[in-house]
Amino acid sequence: MSELNLILLGPPGAGKGTQAERLQDDFRLLYVSTGNMLRAAVEEGTELGRQAKAVMDRGELVPDDVIIGVIVEKVGAEDAQDGFLLDGFPRTVTQAEALEGALSELGRSLTAALLIDVDDDDVVRRISGRRVCQKANHVYHVDTNRPKHDNVCDIDGSRLIQRDDDREDTVRTRLKVYHEQTAPLVEFYEERGILKRFDGTRSPTEVHDHIRATLATLRLEEQI
Ligand code: ADP
Ligand code: ADP
Repeated sequence: MSELNLILLGPPGAGKGTQAERLQDDFRLLYVSTGNMLRAAVEEGTELGRQAKAVMDRGELVPDDVIIGVIVEKVGAEDAQDGFLLDGFPRTVTQAEALEGALSELGRSLTAALLIDVDDDDVVRRISGRRVCQKANHVYHVDTNRPKHDNVCDIDGSRLIQRDDDREDTVRTRLKVYHEQTAPLVEFYEERGILKRFDGTRSPTEVHDHIRATLATLRLEEQI
């Protein structure tokens, strides 16, 4: 089977992590979430975490040179040979160019950039109700995606918490940063003919079905 090298694009709260959980199971891709990675580094108190903590709490982006090296190493590693799913990277044109260059050196390229579209008001509603599990970042929502037992993850039983950067004022900054620095990637990937758009206001299951159908079609086209 041909490899699927995918990135998830979309504003904070669009549902990227929610879809990534499902797509990983479908296609057995190496899943890399830069947000999860950075939060783990903060928790562990590593050098990367120390550099990232204050910037993340303000809702801004960590510097390109801090994150690019980490991701280039991941996509070149053995466990990414059959494909990968990047969530939260690239987030700037500089990051997108670095990824393109690194893949090209490996004789590979992106299969698709999956854009999950949601407007700003929805983003604020979603993020203010988001809860994630402490152990593995499984995603819930206090109104629309409740766990079976309050504040306990259905999947691994760990406690659900609210992220430090999910407060409304920080969310507004993150949205501004998204529009200024990440939204230009939509055109970047459109120009390369690999942008696929999905209506993120549909239910998680509908969004998932649409993405799966698109990926199945891409694979069929490659085989013809
Ligand atoms: P992202 O990774 O893009 O920041 P998440 O997957 O963490 O987004 O989702 C943000 C919040 O919105 C979570 O609380 C999640 O449960 C909820 N959510 C995700 N997808 C949908 C959807 N299609 N409809 C309604 N709420 C959703
Ligand atoms: P969301 O999916 O809700 O947008 P993430 O979990 O992807 O949030 O990211 C949380 C924070 O981590 C970002 O606000 C930013 O500070 C930092 N971050 C994550 N990925 C990157 C990246 N590729 N470049 C720079 N900063 C990043």
